[in-house]
Amino acid sequence: MRTVRSTPIPMDNPLLRSERLPPFEEIRPEHVEPAIREVLTEHRARVRSLEALAEPTFATLVERLEEMQHRLARVWSPVSHLNAVMNTPQMREAYNACLPLLSEYQTDLAQSEPLHRAYARIAQAEGGGLKPTQQRVLEHALRDFRLAGVGLDAERKAQFKTTMLELTRLQAKFEENVLDATNGWSHQVTNHEELAGLNEAVIEQSRRRASEQGVEGYVLSLDQPTYVAVVTDAESSSLRRSFYEAWSTRASDQGPNAGRWDNTEVMQSILRLRHRLAQVLGFGSFAEYALATRMARSVPEVLEFLHRLGAAARPAALREFRELEGFAGRTLAAWDVSYYSERLQRNRFSVSQEQLRPYFPLPRVLAGLFEVAERLFGVRIREHSGAPSWHPDVRFFRIENGAGEDVGSFYLDPYARPHKRSGAWMDECVGRKSLGGRTVLPVAYLVCNFLPPAAGRPALLTHDDVLTLFHEFGHGLHHLLTRVAYPSLAGINGVSWDAVELPSQFLENYAWHPQVLGRISGHVDTGAPLPADRQEQLIATRSFHAGLHMVRQLEFALFDFRLHSEYDPARGERIAGTLEEVRREVAVVPVPPWNRFAHSFGHVFAGGYAAGYYGYKWAEVLAADAFAAFEEHGVFDRDTARRFLDSILAQGGSRDALDAFVEFRGRKPDIAPLLKQHGIAA
Ligand SMILES: [Zn+2]
Repeated sequence: MRTVRSTPIPMDNPLLRSERLPPFEEIRPEHVEPAIREVLTEHRARVRSLEALAEPTFATLVERLEEMQHRLARVWSPVSHLNAVMNTPQMREAYNACLPLLSEYQTDLAQSEPLHRAYARIAQAEGGGLKPTQQRVLEHALRDFRLAGVGLDAERKAQFKTTMLELTRLQAKFEENVLDATNGWSHQVTNHEELAGLNEAVIEQSRRRASEQGVEGYVLSLDQPTYVAVVTDAESSSLRRSFYEAWSTRASDQGPNAGRWDNTEVMQSILRLRHRLAQVLGFGSFAEYALATRMARSVPEVLEFLHRLGAAARPAALREFRELEGFAGRTLAAWDVSYYSERLQRNRFSVSQEQLRPYFPLPRVLAGLFEVAERLFGVRIREHSGAPSWHPDVRFFRIENGAGEDVGSFYLDPYARPHKRSGAWMDECVGRKSLGGRTVLPVAYLVCNFLPPAAGRPALLTHDDVLTLFHEFGHGLHHLLTRVAYPSLAGINGVSWDAVELPSQFLENYAWHPQVLGRISGHVDTGAPLPADRQEQLIATRSFHAGLHMVRQLEFALFDFRLHSEYDPARGERIAGTLEEVRREVAVVPVPPWNRFAHSFGHVFAGGYAAGYYGYKWAEVLAADAFAAFEEHGVFDRDTARRFLDSILAQGGSRDALDAFVEFRGRKPDIAPLLKQHGIAA
């Protein structure tokens, strides 16, 4: 028999101390599970007493739950962070052991009928007397209860649960099939000449693979880097075709492994179940259900947005494609496009990412980036030593406002190293909250994977790296400059998913601007900024094949959104039919009839981006249009920057994203600035 009370709190568990910054050096894998269990046990007891409150109020119920959310996030954040940047088998095990505990707790909270009733009652009783941010906290909570199936009758609730479970299973199955199909194909080459054009690293890897398998020559696998390398660089058209065919028929009824891991039925079931889920909750389609938490208001609005972008981008894409065929001197097949596009780009522009590195030493770029933020938002950013840290490369900075008051701080973990997750991201270390007369300031993690510096030299970035840094710093400003008091709406919390990339993509624009390029560049040996002619060349690369790129993104977005908005049980899923119609509308590159790209389109079928792929372009339009306001008044215009800060950055999720944008811009978002930015303007 186990006692009901869980293990007593180890008083020295560093995760449970409430210091301003997590004591990273002291956190060990063995602290993780006890800390999480302790907090969850404590929280469950509090939830029970909150559920039993006879007369719940905003102060006695909602604020308590907000406090609890803040506390749990603070304990969990260093754990998930260390798991990502200092991974060890022990830490991974501790992390994984907590995932089901956390998800069970969140589900129980989201589906609590008594809490749902309490929120509804508070909205009714106090609604008019509450501040707008408080009303927004209630609105979001009530919306999320509804989307979690609270308030349904017993029969529908059961349907909701089984549909959810079945969907989770099928989405995982979709992913598995894609993975198996990807791993299940490789290509042996015995004639070295067949590999002409490929870089040494890819060739060396395939040689090693062949010798491991005890076969002659080279074995190329179908992982993404190899696939991209082959279709971009391989001179052999037949090699490119083999890879294209294997890649674009994965997990389908076509291609070299036809029928072996076929996702067709899985996709049909996923669409059917998503539709049922939406219907159980009272929505007309899965797209409508997805829009309940987005900035876009309605299905027709999203479709019109995509159709308009398509109509504008297609002529440019057609021009680019004809020009590319002219350059190649022949008709191009789908597997030729990346190859000739790369050749044309090299032919036209003399700047390469590698050649730019000496001009972008990290200290110079950081100083320039901070200067941008300081000029725009009147803040001061200063490095501080002595903050608890998880690695010697990590740096810590504080942000002060114009009055010299601390507003937040952030960590920068810049370099790639073993046991650190790839990619770049911003995450919440501590969220802002101001409850019960006490304010806790936000802290962010900015994580990148830049090439580490050589001994005695600063790290040297490519311009792509510079863009990454600006992008993540934009997310960081969203998190750090928030003035919202409630954790569920502060910073990036509660921001519509299709608007959350606005600040990050907005800030990227500065890394392309002539007034900034000179300030963020300085040759590592001479200190000279990037020369004007090379700046021009670099800026020109931004619009290279922008039309082709855009119609491709629009093809994915329209396909995804139409599938999820037009589904009709009587007509069936119409996966192939919808894709064909979308291609007729926007695509310009001819696609072979056996192409089955949808069968491996994990973004949409395996989860996350279902009825949401449009969000990439949506946020890009917002960012370009917001930046255009700065271009109209000067990119460092303080008044425009103040309005951007007040209306958008500082507001977090406390305001409707469209209302906030309209307040800043004086009108609804316009697609023209994005088109202009990419040289597609009609
Ligand atoms: Zn982002």
